[in-house]
Amino acid sequence: MLALLVSALPMRNAHAADRPSIVTAIAAATKADAFEIDLEVDGRAEPKLILLRNPYRVALDFDGTLAAAKLPEIDKSSLVTDIRHGLVGTDRYRLIMTLAQPARPKLDVTKSEKGARVSLRLTPGDEKSFALPSSPKAPESPAAAGRSDRPLVIVLDPGHGGIDRGATGEKGTEEKAVNLAFGLALRSALEALPNIKVVMTRDDDTFIPLNERAAIARRAGANLMVSLHADSIRYKDLRGATVYTLSEKASDSLSRELADTENSADRFAGSEWDQDAPEIHDILVDLVRRETEALSEHFAIQLVADLGKGEIRLINNPRRSAGFRVLRAPDVPSILLEMGYLSNPEDEEALQSDVWQKRLAGILAQSIAEFATRPILGSQR
Ligand SMILES: [Zn+2]
Repeated sequence: MLALLVSALPMRNAHAADRPSIVTAIAAATKADAFEIDLEVDGRAEPKLILLRNPYRVALDFDGTLAAAKLPEIDKSSLVTDIRHGLVGTDRYRLIMTLAQPARPKLDVTKSEKGARVSLRLTPGDEKSFALPSSPKAPESPAAAGRSDRPLVIVLDPGHGGIDRGATGEKGTEEKAVNLAFGLALRSALEALPNIKVVMTRDDDTFIPLNERAAIARRAGANLMVSLHADSIRYKDLRGATVYTLSEKASDSLSRELADTENSADRFAGSEWDQDAPEIHDILVDLVRRETEALSEHFAIQLVADLGKGEIRLINNPRRSAGFRVLRAPDVPSILLEMGYLSNPEDEEALQSDVWQKRLAGILAQSIAEFATRPILGSQR
């Protein structure tokens, strides 16, 4: 187990000055009125407390931390019915407990000989008591994590590029150019807002394989990735924007066709690109994926509402889902926006208009900033 965790640690942490913290011991105790768990940490410990529902779960996240400790045995008929831990992302350690019922969490971090002791006490409670402590130092949700000490990182992914032109409109408009022009407009709109860093998967006419796009978002530690497209569909009358999230089963046949077309973009990739998704050595990858999907879904709902309010034309049922490979980063909330469809002449005209692009970019930038700065898990409901 330790070997696995160590091998997943990125090289940059090898530097002595910012060596990772190490969880050296974990002890748990089930008491009559509470469940208590203590972690001994060699190094710095700034745990973030995260609360999740359906089922009730409590997680502690530690940035730049490894575990060299075994999980304690617990009485599974008590308040805590399951306990797991592992790495999420590349260098974040997470301990997560599933609860039989809501509980009031109390988190304390105290200095110890080698570093810190982190103590979490859970007292059985009701739905209302299942909430983050409201002290000014209350930890934040993953979406808002690091809000104070680092800018929000938004990855913009203009679809297609280089040899892969994407769709072509009746008047010859190329999707790859529309996506890039809009991506640059959106970057400007986002950079005009405070504390946002924009990373582009491409800012010129370059071909980038789908896995590499998702990998760029992961490496950037993105809070959100927005993939931009303007495809063609076989229904020429259909026009307007669509917001897609990832799902194994497509929401409808149109979405499935679109995802198949998009996923075939990698046929342009040369053999130098590894087309298989890299094996991710995250023990809790499924759990992280579920959280990421929930966040993506949350943003999709909000964005559709914001586009509607901004009088951006939407297609019927504008929130859809399918198996888009570019959206598969397990730990980066991601959506794919079809801004419009080049198969429709009116959309083709709108997509090329500077005025329309700026208007959409403004609405999207506000929506992104609002989503990314608001805690979503743990403190809502
Ligand atoms: Zn496309």
